[in-house]
Amino acid sequence: MGSTSGFEPARHQAAGHDGCLVFGEDEMIFAKVTNQQEVEFYNETQKRSMEEAGAADAALGSRLSEWMPVYLGTLEQNGFKEHDANSMVMPALKEDQAALRRQLEEGFSRLSVGNGSSDAQGHSGGRPYIVLQNLCSGFSRPSIMDVKLGSLLHDESADASKVQRLKMVSASTTSGSLGFRICGIKHHVEDADHTPQVISDDLKDTYTITSATSKGSAVVYDKNFGKGLTKQNVSRGLMVIFDTLPSKSIRRKVLNNFLMRLQLIYNCLLDAEVRIISGSLLFIVEGDHERWRPVLENEDLYESMDPLIREDFFDDDDDDDKDDEDGDDTKNFGTFSSSKIDDKIAESTDEVSDSRKLGNQPPLSSLNLIDFAHSKYVVGEGYDENIIEGVENLIAIFEEALQDL
Ligand code: ADP
Ligand code: MN
Repeated sequence: MGSTSGFEPARHQAAGHDGCLVFGEDEMIFAKVTNQQEVEFYNETQKRSMEEAGAADAALGSRLSEWMPVYLGTLEQNGFKEHDANSMVMPALKEDQAALRRQLEEGFSRLSVGNGSSDAQGHSGGRPYIVLQNLCSGFSRPSIMDVKLGSLLHDESADASKVQRLKMVSASTTSGSLGFRICGIKHHVEDADHTPQVISDDLKDTYTITSATSKGSAVVYDKNFGKGLTKQNVSRGLMVIFDTLPSKSIRRKVLNNFLMRLQLIYNCLLDAEVRIISGSLLFIVEGDHERWRPVLENEDLYESMDPLIREDFFDDDDDDDKDDEDGDDTKNFGTFSSSKIDDKIAESTDEVSDSRKLGNQPPLSSLNLIDFAHSKYVVGEGYDENIIEGVENLIAIFEEALQDL
């Protein structure tokens, strides 16, 4: 059982600003200082997701909200503000977990005492916190990688010097050449001296490593690692978190799962009229071999234990009114008909449904889109070429990695 007493600093972070917080049982909730633009983007996404919820033929992963952390609301000076009073997204907070809401508010009011500038204790200087599903919750030792998408890294809000700086960063890194860049990795290892095979001598000088010891050892590759990688060697950087998986055949299965997730995200983004500047893909892989043991003993269990899209945030066991018209506990994804992706994904769609029937276990890996502080909807303007290119290149690299395995 995790702490239920209040907010604590997030232990697992791959990149970004400090001061992120976790909260609640199994640290299921993640909070970070945000801006109005990110709150608006989550609100808008949630609204659209609600409107499309009735559409029976929505393919797995075709909605942006499926790839984003579940959005609960914001915490502001005057308490917790649910994102939408009429929404069905957070029934738990309204009824069963009224206690959680109270705890959130109490915990937050304690945090806000002092109310200085933003620091590791969570003082935000009056800026709101966004309250999200903690994507690391349920993992025992999450290895995580933050991959920032896009070659264009600045939006209209940036001043001249920021524009210049970000253009330089893009031009001198894989952001410019491939449309994505590794921003940070936290890799859980058994042995602090462990060096992933993919990190051979030529990469050793391109980054700073810090070893942390909370639960076992973690090797942190900071932002300079990703900035030092090139078009030629970035694929090896991308493979670091997969290096410690317990067997080669499990690695193949996991890489294949990530490949399918990337393909689904690609399709989803083709249909989304958004501009996501400086958003990231957050890769998470279980680094605790104990949690892989059932799969090691019976590899057929993998698909059901590691769904393409995580669905365990809401405990559906005591189902109420929303998705049980036919007495089945699975959501209605309809037939998988997109011609843009291959049949393997269609098979997995069934497997995802199967996995739900097994109950809501935390997954063994996950892929999500995060960081929407510079994102907006652009209705009628088509898809976001800037981030699509990066996802396309990631797909090619994962395909190659699978072939080379
Ligand atoms: P910023 O880059 O503006 O500081 P991000 O949204 O990118 O903010 O978050 C920073 C880091 O926090 C990410 O690299 C990731 O490791 C972690 N993180 C962000 N959102 C979540 C979440 N919902 N659950 C768990 N970890 C998260
Ligand atoms: Mn970020």
